[in-house]
Amino acid sequence: MTDKNCIFCRILAGEIPATKIYEDDKMLVFKDIEPKAEVHLLAIPKDHFKLLSEADETRAEILKHMLLKIPQIAKDNGCGNGYRLVINQGDDAGQTVFHLHIHILGGEILPW
Ligand code: 5GP
Ligand code: ZN
Repeated sequence: MTDKNCIFCRILAGEIPATKIYEDDKMLVFKDIEPKAEVHLLAIPKDHFKLLSEADETRAEILKHMLLKIPQIAKDNGCGNGYRLVINQGDDAGQTVFHLHIHILGGEILPW
């Protein structure tokens, strides 16, 4: 599924430029435009859905694929010493882009 009004779907379609780090048939990883850590990547499923709470069995398989790929991607991109994964779910968490994404934060000692 694609949403033509979604920024991340537009990045997937090549309509908005992004610094791509990794891509396969299920996911894309690119640099966050406003990094909150020395390394700040965003991993997104190619299939558009808004929220973690919208995950079903099929989407969970894609999330599983993403979680299995992320350690190597993180290691290859300056996070060999550790990193943090974040999914913001909804308004109280400050989610601003409603296409499910996993933040990959690292490249420095992260405050908690
Ligand atoms: P959220 O707050 O929804 O969890 O995170 C959305 C993230 O997307 C933010 O960290 C923001 O900087 C990033 N972002 C928003 N628009 C763009 C864009 O057009 N390009 C890129 N690369 N990142 C974006
Ligand atoms: Zn989307």
